[in-house]
Amino acid sequence: MDRQQEFVLRTVEERDIRFIRLWFTDVLGILKSVAIAPAELESAFSEGIGFDGSSIEGLTRVYEADMIARPDPTTFQILPWRGERQGTARMFCDILTPDGEPSLADSRNVLKRALAKASDQGFTFYTHPEVEFYLFEDPKDPAAPLVPVDQGGYFDHVPRGTTHDFRRAAIQMLESMGISVEFSHHEAGPGQNEIDLRYADALTTADNLMTFRTVVKEVALEQGVFASFMPKPMADHPGSGMHTHLSLFEGDRNAFNEVGGQYELSKVARSFIAGLLRHAPEITAVTNQYVNSYKRLWGGAEAPSYVCWGHNNRSALVRVPMYKPGKGNSSRVEYRALDSAANPYLAFAVLLAAGLKGIKEGYELPEGAEDDVWELTDAERRALGIEPLPQSLDQAIAVMERSELVAETLGEHVFDFVLRNKRQEWDEYRGQVTPYELRRFLPIL
Ligand code: GLN
Ligand code: MG
Ligand code: MG
Ligand code: MG
Repeated sequence: MDRQQEFVLRTVEERDIRFIRLWFTDVLGILKSVAIAPAELESAFSEGIGFDGSSIEGLTRVYEADMIARPDPTTFQILPWRGERQGTARMFCDILTPDGEPSLADSRNVLKRALAKASDQGFTFYTHPEVEFYLFEDPKDPAAPLVPVDQGGYFDHVPRGTTHDFRRAAIQMLESMGISVEFSHHEAGPGQNEIDLRYADALTTADNLMTFRTVVKEVALEQGVFASFMPKPMADHPGSGMHTHLSLFEGDRNAFNEVGGQYELSKVARSFIAGLLRHAPEITAVTNQYVNSYKRLWGGAEAPSYVCWGHNNRSALVRVPMYKPGKGNSSRVEYRALDSAANPYLAFAVLLAAGLKGIKEGYELPEGAEDDVWELTDAERRALGIEPLPQSLDQAIAVMERSELVAETLGEHVFDFVLRNKRQEWDEYRGQVTPYELRRFLPIL
């Protein structure tokens, strides 16, 4: 037993924790949880806890259904919403096969593999997500029109607003769980919020995002409202993106920074951005995984639709935020396509792989886009070499299917599962006759 494991056992004893939830994530990014009693902890650390993997999306095929969840003691945290006494704690788990090998179907393992590749090249990968989501009155019927909790807009201070209290409660809970929050504000849509997590290594941020989603849902329940991370819940209002700031460090030096470079960007940063741009279409089915994601990407309201980069250009897919001279370690690039419903482990893995490929192959960064690319005509965009992102899940699957980069990064099992699952989703969606079609065509046809 190592020191971390001993620390967990001691804390469980001292704090009178009665349940330990073992958390892991299915291939679509949905959190799974199984609770164990304190008496089971030692064997959970040494052997793991067996479960039926065939019931979890994307985890195993039925004939190899037994899987093992082994908790990572460094992720131990008491769950504040379960109360102080006789409480509940959680740990994230790695998923193992019955032979004790890391499972190729485990999202967390996909990201760990990608991070290990970066580490072989001397890099640590940091991410800092800006998470947007809506708060609605509790929708008893998912098909009824949604009622946002307020009519606020971007940065609005709504007096006595539900969203203030909400953000305050959510942030306090996150901070008490060791998750630092940098900014929070009302977003542009009615009832829409944004909370930005402080940067951390990508595995920690991915774990933190899983916790974040749970905390937001819990606080919403406490406050009698409904929180949603759906990418585009209302046609006439902005979608919920998860712009993510990315940087690579070599030791404690930011490898993206070079004093004297354009926007203080190093060659490493320029090739990384070039990699993101070149591979953007093929990773989109991962960063934007639902049919609904494409309504956000193509619905305007500052969601990116075209593949280009710019300095402080909010219509670009990749934005280089304002740099602070003398603060080299803050150099970073913001990838704006990601939405709040992505599986963060897989999304960070493919973003990292695309950037590293750019570095390895020495891709040249094209000219940045100065204009608002939505205002240009198709012909102007073509002349500038600016391609669109996939316009539907169907198109995104078609490019991903041919991607060696994504196949290699996700591994064969996850790659096949995602494609199969997404094709099924598209087929189901394509078969719908929508209220729009009835309204539009029934009267005239
Ligand atoms: N909601 C917008 C999106 O979907 C972003 C708005 C903003 O943060 N500027 O990406
Ligand atoms: Mg923001
Ligand atoms: Mg925002
Ligand atoms: Mg942003």
